[in-house]
Amino acid sequence: MSTNAIKDVSKRIVKASRELYDHGLVRGTSGNISAKIPGTDTFLIKPSGGRMEFLKPEELVLVDLQGNKIRGELDVSVETPIHAAIYRTRKDVQAVVHTHAPTATAFGIAKTEILPLQVEMFMLLPNGVPVVPFKQPGSKALAEAVQKKMADYNAVILENHGIVTVGSTIEAACNFNEMVEEAAKIQLLAMTLAGRDALNLAKLKEKFKTQNTVE
Ligand SMILES: [Zn+2]
Repeated sequence: MSTNAIKDVSKRIVKASRELYDHGLVRGTSGNISAKIPGTDTFLIKPSGGRMEFLKPEELVLVDLQGNKIRGELDVSVETPIHAAIYRTRKDVQAVVHTHAPTATAFGIAKTEILPLQVEMFMLLPNGVPVVPFKQPGSKALAEAVQKKMADYNAVILENHGIVTVGSTIEAACNFNEMVEEAAKIQLLAMTLAGRDALNLAKLKEKFKTQNTVE
């Protein structure tokens, strides 16, 4: 395994972690992030505890796709089973980001899916963001429930917990995380103004499809 590849991925994870903090998606010791080492069945993940904004490259832990530690001084993040389960089934995924983004997390508490009400959001998340029913943090049951849902989505809400997003790059997974929080904020405002009338996904699909048709 190339040391340079590990260094490169570490640097990008640390930069992304700082940005997640700067954008208000993580606070305190909440949240975690991981990314695969290209061409291998291993990934680097944030250690347990510690704050995302102070994360250092050397603190990241290298693990295999079963979540077993290969290299690193610190313990792995408690949510490592979620990350490992996603990488085992989604070969296209190179990075996983878990945060407690506040508005999106509130949607999970209300057991309400997030819909792509805004047209560009629709291109990114055409089927919205579903809610995975509550399971204890760090449990195998939670990892399995997320893995199953992630077969069809790039972002999910964990009921009474937070959100998980994936991407073909670290930057894409972070972008999804930010966009899910933005979509949640927009939906909250739209529901305040238009009530549940604004929430018809079938109608939205029809509207956005029609507008994209070249005549
Ligand atoms: Zn969490």
